Amino acid sequence: MTSTSEVLDDLEDRLFIGGRWRESASGTRFDVVDPATGDAIAHVADATPADGIAALDAAVAAAESWAATTPRVRGEILRRAFDLVQTQFEELALLMTLEMGKPLAESRSEVTYGGEFLRWFSEEAVRINGRYGTNPEGTGRMIVSYRPVGPCYLITPWNFPLAMATRKIAPALAAGCTVVLKPAELTPLTTLALAGILQEAGLPDGVVNVVTTTDAAGVSGPIIRDPRLRKLSFTGSTPVGKQLIRQAADSVLRVSMELGGNAPFLVFEDADLDLAIDGAMLAKFRNIGQACTAANRFLVHESVAEEFAERVTARVRELHMGRGTEHGVTIGPLIDDRAVTKAQDLVDDAVMRRAALRVGGTSAPGPGTFFEPTVLVGVATGSRILEEEIFGPVLAIVPFADEADAVRLANATEFGLVSYVFTQDPARGQRMIDRLETGMMGLNVGAISNAAAPFGGVKQSGMGREGGVEGIHEYLSVKYTLTPDPYAKR
Ligand code: NAD
Repeated sequence: MTSTSEVLDDLEDRLFIGGRWRESASGTRFDVVDPATGDAIAHVADATPADGIAALDAAVAAAESWAATTPRVRGEILRRAFDLVQTQFEELALLMTLEMGKPLAESRSEVTYGGEFLRWFSEEAVRINGRYGTNPEGTGRMIVSYRPVGPCYLITPWNFPLAMATRKIAPALAAGCTVVLKPAELTPLTTLALAGILQEAGLPDGVVNVVTTTDAAGVSGPIIRDPRLRKLSFTGSTPVGKQLIRQAADSVLRVSMELGGNAPFLVFEDADLDLAIDGAMLAKFRNIGQACTAANRFLVHESVAEEFAERVTARVRELHMGRGTEHGVTIGPLIDDRAVTKAQDLVDDAVMRRAALRVGGTSAPGPGTFFEPTVLVGVATGSRILEEEIFGPVLAIVPFADEADAVRLANATEFGLVSYVFTQDPARGQRMIDRLETGMMGLNVGAISNAAAPFGGVKQSGMGREGGVEGIHEYLSVKYTLTPDPYAKR
């Protein structure tokens, strides 16, 4: 096992700008806190707006030469970065557990998942193909080609510190774009470690720049307003996403938005309950419930609702809450006090509206920001927990009467990121694919993320896709050229 100090050495007090590791312009720094203990584990540089613009300067300066590198060279650098992630697998996993709190086993899964974006897009870099054809009139030849969109600004959240960064950086680099990345202030260390890996993999100076800051709005505003920026890609909450879309409108900046979710988890009367319960545990408690893909509302047919509740409660009682670095821990802390207060408020509101608490329901004594894994049954329509993202380990069950009722309840939200459906009837499964308003669906599975799949939502869950063959197109612009038919008589 790697030691904590080994992992944290080298990451402190430095921004990564133009291939150089340097302090912020103001010389100030901020603490990164382990949510399991409340202790500061490292300090990082607190970037100012001037640092943000310096990072954009570096990305702009490197843009032309990076766009001119061959796809094979870009792919090979990404592939080397993937290999280095494997070499530093344990260090990265430990770093994530320390700054974010998730159990080590889950951090390891994220290193695997996050690393895959580097490998997937190393392979996609050489497959940016255009089109060539004769126009319908036969008078000309149409050429459709793709160009890198230009310098990009990437903003990531704290809940998947590695994967949210690689899911943006890898397609951007594969497409030939340079980037400035601003990680969440709660989890900047993993991103800094990733920048080190990309540098070691041979990435030219200025292609990736990282600014860590406590002043997200102050640093981001000038970058977004700068006419040299060509693309904004954001993963985070819907309210902040809306604010950024408004800012981007002023310069008609291209945006990709991966926003919040309120995933329904439907269990029909014909479901395989063993499968549904395994799926529920994964969809709800992975990442301590702090995932945009976390199941938020368990809609269960009334004929199996009680059996589902009993069996899932028994499984929840087996979860082991504690510090993510400790052996056997399956539930770590929530990210901070605000997250604990929110989980508590949502549970209290549901109970006040007559939901029954089967297990959990309260925060655990400190140190650390822990909330007990919780099951609520008979949650009433109008309860806040059905309308807001819980972002905590609380499983809320609502019974439904028939398929039409299930679809109505599932779609009764402004979000549309992911839905989970458990049924053994293939025709019903197909109907759900057609009728649920969702960007992604798990049909008899409780986890869907894959670097090879297009991740993203509909409605207020966002726009654009990350991963899959679609992901690289977020960083490419289409160029159409018409040229006269070479055989036409003049
Ligand atoms: P958040 O919106 O508070 O913050 C996300 C990022 O935006 C952080 O880096 C933060 O510093 C930055 N930010 C905040 N205010 C800003 C501003 N005014 N200008 C510029 N940047 C600003 O979200 P969070 O709490 O870090 O993450 C949780 C949210 O992210 C949840 O809603 C979750 O569903 C969502 N999320 C979505 C996906 C997805 O792929 N759809 C994936 C992970 C998380």
